[in-house]
Amino acid sequence: MENSNHIPIKVTFLGTGTSIGVPVITCDCPVCKSPDPHDKRMRTSVMLEVNGYTFVIDCGPDFRIQMLRENVNNLDAVIFTHEHRDHIAGLDDIRAFNYVLNKKIDIYGSRQVMEAIQTEFPYIFSESRYFGAPQLTIHNIDETPFSVFGVEFIPIKVLHEKLPVTGFRIGDFTYITDASHISPKELEKIKGSKVIVLNALRNSKHTSHFSVGEAVEILTKLRPEAAYLTHLSHFVGLHNEVNSKLPGFVQLAYDGLTLTI
Ligand SMILES: [Zn+2]
Ligand SMILES: [Zn+2]
Repeated sequence: MENSNHIPIKVTFLGTGTSIGVPVITCDCPVCKSPDPHDKRMRTSVMLEVNGYTFVIDCGPDFRIQMLRENVNNLDAVIFTHEHRDHIAGLDDIRAFNYVLNKKIDIYGSRQVMEAIQTEFPYIFSESRYFGAPQLTIHNIDETPFSVFGVEFIPIKVLHEKLPVTGFRIGDFTYITDASHISPKELEKIKGSKVIVLNALRNSKHTSHFSVGEAVEILTKLRPEAAYLTHLSHFVGLHNEVNSKLPGFVQLAYDGLTLTI
């Protein structure tokens, strides 16, 4: 039964690849040479369209191309999971939205992420900022649920080896990338989500990312209606072959995949 005040969330996977993307420069493995567009993965990011607002979670080096590919005409906020380059490197390209929309863009992240962004992009926040630099408004978040234009985000604290990373639950949708550990307390916050996105880097174990097997194990316990794996490397294998072997409710995400929840 649908809740009468259920607000639909449209999710678009902007990128589903690990930090170096797929294909990998110089690699001639079958995945990197695959003609299937599902095997081409830009750096990991999703766009959420809720209540007429457009939010992007992370803004990596492929941000500009992702915005062009999806014909995105509006951006209201960028919400960051963590400060690694493959999640923040596209920050400068937000200025295109500043120019066209003639407004500042709100960015959200933990204090640690916001400090890293100010260190990595000092010219954006300097007192003598040049004309044309991105115009951003910083919002620090902690473990407390927060609202972005009336849409509630519940932070899910996970670990990327030792680095804190924030996942988000928005209504029935949970998005977690770059995790290698989720505590039982945080898993409780995810429970009951209809759709869960979780990272999986490759088939063998890795210190800072779940493997495909570890991600499937967690998802099998949480048992959402549907689950999608993201932040995938070329080692995972060919999209169609891998999908045919996964449990029915779990699939690899792919660039351009859209869901409405
Ligand atoms: Zn990453
Ligand atoms: Zn390869």
